Amino acid sequence: MISIIGFPTDKNSSYLKGASLAPSKIINAFNSNSTNKFSENGIDTEKNNICVNLGSTDLGDCENEFQTIQEVIKKELKKNNLCISIGGDHSITFPILKAYQKFYPSVSILHFDAHPDLYENFDNNIYSHASPFARIMENSLASSLTQVGIRTLNKHQKEQAHLYGVNIIEMKDFDPNFKFKSDDPIYISIDLDGLDPAFAPGVSHPEPGGFSTRDLIQIISNISGKIIGADIVECNPTRDINGITTITAAKILKELIGKILV
Ligand code: MN
Ligand code: MN
Repeated sequence: MISIIGFPTDKNSSYLKGASLAPSKIINAFNSNSTNKFSENGIDTEKNNICVNLGSTDLGDCENEFQTIQEVIKKELKKNNLCISIGGDHSITFPILKAYQKFYPSVSILHFDAHPDLYENFDNNIYSHASPFARIMENSLASSLTQVGIRTLNKHQKEQAHLYGVNIIEMKDFDPNFKFKSDDPIYISIDLDGLDPAFAPGVSHPEPGGFSTRDLIQIISNISGKIIGADIVECNPTRDINGITTITAAKILKELIGKILV
């Protein structure tokens, strides 16, 4: 069973708030009658016992937020469910991976983003949405980290990538025939700003020159290995146009479910 869980938080967003509004909107778009529930690879994601929609988690006060996220994920993994988390900003990936480590000690991460999110510390916040992959790597929560779509690499983050052995495939070097493969269980983290703002305008940090929605679906469909979880983060409905970014997030959710179940 796949558990779909919303984490409505933007407390660790550095520039704009608004990502906390995304989970309910994305889940509504996923359930909208404007489309059917078949993924492109032919899986009926609506079929009984495939998915359980747990809705948005009440995250309470700031201090316990990461603890709550960890506990919610652990509870699902204990039931042998896989989790697809809907953010919220990218800070949620660190507590999610912390929970995963207890059940999957060796996880290979495929990270889709315009930004490497490897800052040692950003604006005096080590838990910033600009830092989750620094925390993940220094806590050895991943056996490997592969980043695609990156187009904002600065000197500091290049050094961090080198320090943690991150495999960065910059957008400028991206080969459309890219196929991600791993023998370790795979966790997929999708920051919607990896897409070009033409396809996903509703994000806090739009960075032109990115992927099309079709590129992203192709990357997902080309993955070879056992996928054990994913997140879709950084949708900011306050910046969206006609809900296209929430609809795109819902489409990606559907394709992820189809890919996991095929
Ligand atoms: Mn980003
Ligand atoms: Mn990110």
